Amino acid sequence: MVAPKKYWELYRRDQFSLASHRGVIDYASGFSVHEAGLLRGFEGVPQQGPLSEALQREIIHGYYASVSYVDAQIGLLLAELETLGLADKTTVVLLGDNGFHLGDHGMWGVNSPLEHATRVPLILRPAAGKATASTSSPVESIDLFPTLCELCGIEIPETISGRSLVPLIKGTADQIRDGALTVFKNRGSIGYSYRTDQYRYTEWVNQYNRIAARELYDYQADPHETQNRSADPMYAELRLRLAKQMRVDGTDCQRLRAVSAVSDVALGMRSPGVETLPAAAAALKRLKEGNTRFVSGKSIHPHETRNWRAQLEQGQHPFAVVLGCSDSRVPPELLFDQGFGDLFVIRVAGNVVDTDVTASIEYAVHYLQTPLVLILGHTGCGAVKATVDHFDNPSEQPKEVVALIKRIEPALKSLPEDTEHAERVSGCVRTNVIHAVQKLSSIADVRQSIGAGQVRIVGAVYDMHNGTVDVID
Ligand SMILES: [Zn+2]
Repeated sequence: MVAPKKYWELYRRDQFSLASHRGVIDYASGFSVHEAGLLRGFEGVPQQGPLSEALQREIIHGYYASVSYVDAQIGLLLAELETLGLADKTTVVLLGDNGFHLGDHGMWGVNSPLEHATRVPLILRPAAGKATASTSSPVESIDLFPTLCELCGIEIPETISGRSLVPLIKGTADQIRDGALTVFKNRGSIGYSYRTDQYRYTEWVNQYNRIAARELYDYQADPHETQNRSADPMYAELRLRLAKQMRVDGTDCQRLRAVSAVSDVALGMRSPGVETLPAAAAALKRLKEGNTRFVSGKSIHPHETRNWRAQLEQGQHPFAVVLGCSDSRVPPELLFDQGFGDLFVIRVAGNVVDTDVTASIEYAVHYLQTPLVLILGHTGCGAVKATVDHFDNPSEQPKEVVALIKRIEPALKSLPEDTEHAERVSGCVRTNVIHAVQKLSSIADVRQSIGAGQVRIVGAVYDMHNGTVDVID
């Protein structure tokens, strides 16, 4: 919307303050904050990165001007009702379809299940009788239909889910709901966000009816949503109460009903402070750090205690998938210095991608929301050596072995033939990893997850001699 000049002139730009919290959310779910994509298409707005303070103020200014412009139009409408003598016979409802981020969390525009985008203005002036001044009771947009039915003396159909707001309007009730539900879709998951007078509790349910992430904000302790407390043990009891309450209020939400309120720890909560989207980078960093400890003989052997294993009984949340070779000298947990529940490991001779391997990886990506898949080759790989040997001197082999060799062979064929044997083996180890990355990435379901930013696939080679893992970029 474009507001005429006179509405801009109602405000001085320097009177606006920027959003109180423009940074990230601690322990973010990775689902709620967006990059203000809609805004980026406008002239003068940078394609990426933060907006200058001047531009932020200009946008806020424009927003206020637009609101005042709309306000003036509403005034014209109400005045016309008076002129026509209809004012006393007309119920007037003012409602917005969504709220609007003005720089909070670095977001601009609509589309999030956070406070600024989910709350809408709602003013109701009944035709007859006096309305209560205001209420802070949570209500939903779907409550308008039965409200209007009741105000107009029309029978409320039994099939609808909303609740009449008339008791609130008349002041005969303080509250008609415990909380208001907002449903929002992002990255293949549906976010069910439940706002009570003090809290907002959100569950992200993925297409497999698993909870991909949770969010919990306490507006009394944290009015600007700076911290997601869903994994905070102090809030565990409250979280469960809200999860149950939300299901009672959201009986029409099919996907929500398919997931138990007491379902295991949210998948996205595997590692506090790590967002789901940048999680792949964080996971890779964690692997590299572990390998550095291993190489320098300073392994800490984390996550092996009895207490930790007991926690894992609730569910697993590995931060990386490693597809490695079966070779006994290449155990991923040891060379990355990780413990129980950290790595989802698949080991097969020559670290090749076949149907079963793919199924295991898809399980980790979709059900466990593991953000990183690392395909790990290693120097002196027997399976690769066997492939080179078989290629040079074909010999009788069991058909299963031949099938395995056939999977590695394309990697060998991409190398020049005139190099010596050892060099071909080491070259093939590397190209075999690259081929596996390409093959896995080309599988439709995996490709979709890559496109959605849910997973990253990288290759690496473990050097048996010095213990280092070299990531192939
Ligand atoms: Zn091997």
